[in-house]
Amino acid sequence: MNDQQLSYFRELLLKRRSEILQYADDTVTDMNDQSDNYPDPTDRASIESDRNFILRLRERERSLLVKIDEALERIDSGDFGVCESCGSDIGVKRLEARPVTTLCIECKTRAEAAEKARGE
Ligand SMILES: [Zn+2]
Repeated sequence: MNDQQLSYFRELLLKRRSEILQYADDTVTDMNDQSDNYPDPTDRASIESDRNFILRLRERERSLLVKIDEALERIDSGDFGVCESCGSDIGVKRLEARPVTTLCIECKTRAEAAEKARGE
């Protein structure tokens, strides 16, 4: 992968990173706004489930942030775009769709098939 492609993916990852952080910020603000002004227990229950939903979302965002940081580290170390399983190029098209991936499509397909076989 050449320097131009690497800086393209760095931009892409940094942009996605700031989008997630922005969204997480909005979510926290929303949660604070809701406070406890809902005396009706039904409303309260639905707020609780909303809150659980948001917390789950944020868990997923957190793990995506970790993956983005790891991808940025791989750009710095020169490992970006190389499949961590077989060592071949992941391919620009696949990285554009999923810049945090660490597996080429063949290894990913094989890993998913293995997961399915284990019932995960
Ligand atoms: Zn591979």
